[in-house]
Amino acid sequence: MAEATESESRKLLGRLREALAEDSAGQARLDRVVQIIACSMATEVCSIYLFRDSDTLELCATEGLKPEAVHHTRMRLGEGLVGRVARTGQIINAPDAPAERGFRYMPETGEERFSSFLGVPIQRLGERLGVLVVQSKSNREYTDDEIYALEVVAMVLAEMTELGAFLGEGEALRARHQQPVVFRGVMGQEGTAIGHVWLHEPRVVVTNPIAEDPQRELERLRVAMETLRRTVDGMVNAVSLVEGEQREVLETYRLFANSRSWLSRMEEDISRGLSAEAAVEKEQSSARTRMKQVPDPYLRERLHDLDDLSNRLLRILTGQGNETGAEMPEDPILVARNIGPGELLDYGRKLRGVVLEEGSVGSHATVVARALAIPLVINAAGITTEALNGDLITVDGDHGIVHLRPEENVRTVFRDKLAMDAKAQRRYDDLRDQPARTLDGRVIELHMNAGLMADLPSLHGSGAEGVGLFRTELQFLTRNKVPRRGALAALYARVMDAAEGKRVVFRTLDIGSDKVLPYMKPQDEPNPAMGWRAIRVGLDKKGVMRMQLQALIRAAGGRPLTVMFPFIAQFEEFKEARQHLLSELEREDKLGHVLPESVEIGAMLETPSMAFAPRQFFELADFISIGGNDLKQFFFAADRENERVRRRYDTLNVSFLTLIETIVVRCIGTGTPLSFCGEDAGRPLEAVCLTAMGVRSLSMRPASIGPVKSLLRRVDIEEAKKVIDRARASGEQSVRSAVAEWLRNA
Ligand code: PEP
Ligand code: MG
Repeated sequence: MAEATESESRKLLGRLREALAEDSAGQARLDRVVQIIACSMATEVCSIYLFRDSDTLELCATEGLKPEAVHHTRMRLGEGLVGRVARTGQIINAPDAPAERGFRYMPETGEERFSSFLGVPIQRLGERLGVLVVQSKSNREYTDDEIYALEVVAMVLAEMTELGAFLGEGEALRARHQQPVVFRGVMGQEGTAIGHVWLHEPRVVVTNPIAEDPQRELERLRVAMETLRRTVDGMVNAVSLVEGEQREVLETYRLFANSRSWLSRMEEDISRGLSAEAAVEKEQSSARTRMKQVPDPYLRERLHDLDDLSNRLLRILTGQGNETGAEMPEDPILVARNIGPGELLDYGRKLRGVVLEEGSVGSHATVVARALAIPLVINAAGITTEALNGDLITVDGDHGIVHLRPEENVRTVFRDKLAMDAKAQRRYDDLRDQPARTLDGRVIELHMNAGLMADLPSLHGSGAEGVGLFRTELQFLTRNKVPRRGALAALYARVMDAAEGKRVVFRTLDIGSDKVLPYMKPQDEPNPAMGWRAIRVGLDKKGVMRMQLQALIRAAGGRPLTVMFPFIAQFEEFKEARQHLLSELEREDKLGHVLPESVEIGAMLETPSMAFAPRQFFELADFISIGGNDLKQFFFAADRENERVRRRYDTLNVSFLTLIETIVVRCIGTGTPLSFCGEDAGRPLEAVCLTAMGVRSLSMRPASIGPVKSLLRRVDIEEAKKVIDRARASGEQSVRSAVAEWLRNA
């Protein structure tokens, strides 16, 4: 690269810096900017187009086109050459623009006089802000150096736009991060919340995109890269024992951190006049643009790694570590691109809600959010670029909708709903020590579902009679090694201590397929929910299951122990699993450990097959718990995690209720205690219908106990059964409307 060109580019940025420092309004500043660029690059035209909404670009300043066209000329994303640059994020360099495919002639601008066209995207970290264009009368093909210079200028413009340097009249020059925005994502965990944004990784603010002294900036970059390399080496060494995926990721980090080409691209940006942090952002921005276009998931992941490293480098350079000095609001709603399960657990119940830009329903973060019962929306595209720390935000986990900086009417709706919930909650608190006795005198047992030690305090607060389902996955998911037996035993013992003698039903590990443990080889299965999971993994790879059973036995000490096996699909599986527990008891006895005072061994009924199992299954099981979430998905063949179908079939569909009734009858026949622990148990209307079908024990999230108890105490179950039977006989598909109508009039 010629020295002369470098200094030209630096000179241009120097002049821009002066213009930006002048005390002028947004429009005047933009006008100055286009003049300077046109003059420095010796082009007749320089124009800036900015987005006025996500679909439309507006000409906001021009040198060389007709001034009347400013704020009048607009184009849609993808329309004309400017629209194409905006859509693809790629440069167009056309010596003969009118001959170019997609060229659109805009008479109001007078552009027919111009032939050559160079357009570069104005983007910040992959977020599209607009397009910067230069045009000339001659058929001029811009050189690589000129393109590069314009890209550097566009980078500075993006930073300045972000900082609000061009505020003015109209939508396109509005202040950023102030408008209400709605994000339509996907449901991760139900529930609603209103609160203030807490960014998991607050974005780094670059206030000095232009270098005053390139030599100094190069030195800063060099030192920062050194620190980065040391950090990465430290990470690699710290996990030297971990094999597999995690190690591979860290090795890639190391490769990038030592990459000559990454460094030299950034050095070149600096020699063109950018500051060290602006250079990092420029390369990060183009990596993000590429990330969106790469179809290969593996390569996309690697670009992700580079993105992560760039963030680290930016933090080192700006000194804005995770601690940006912002204080966590009292009602934090966590906003992040993605988050690991351990990190989410660290935040814990402080959070009112969580919104992730990425994530998936099966991801570990989702599992944790569910365990914490925190409303979660995933796949909220673009939220981390829009949201600022402290912004007001509402989360509707039921529908996957997020309102950022909501309008007054949306806020009111949310506040009213939460106030009503709080009022109802106070009413429920009064019922805490009352039984769930129906009007016709049946007493229904209400238990709670749990998965963390932190859930146990709710056992007393909610009025639950015990823990009807303790999911044991989380302790496995949040570590990068199989937890040790001693640690598990200690945790289970603490859970039993906290339950103070109330029954806790421990479910053995339901893991595999979609919930892959960090240290397990991912199994590429076409249908993970129907794949190698839960008891299937437990029986095939006995080591982990036996270790867990030993931990449970030791945790109980001399106390009663209740264990339940998930996902039993045929009798033989239950017999085998049960036998493992009996053998472990024998072994522990021989080793001299104190045995539990009593042991109950139950099965989860989660596949329709078990409703038709041999009578001996019902006799052998000490109790049965219906896992309604899975049972329903397999009964209707509708994936419980698939947004397209998950609401398609009603739990109160007559066929499903008849299946439940069949199970109830079979359990009555053998005197087997039966409970229901899927999500539907916590929905009041569903709880009434399950009870009417004969289920006498329900297990649900602690927060659902109040509403369910409150309704159960107001109904006559005998009557409810009659309503259901009439609806069933009438050929209705679902009994929902009949029961709801009856309840309204009751
Ligand atoms: C169920 O399937 O209903 C259940 C309680 O188990 P999980 O939701 O953990 O699969
Ligand atoms: Mg299940």
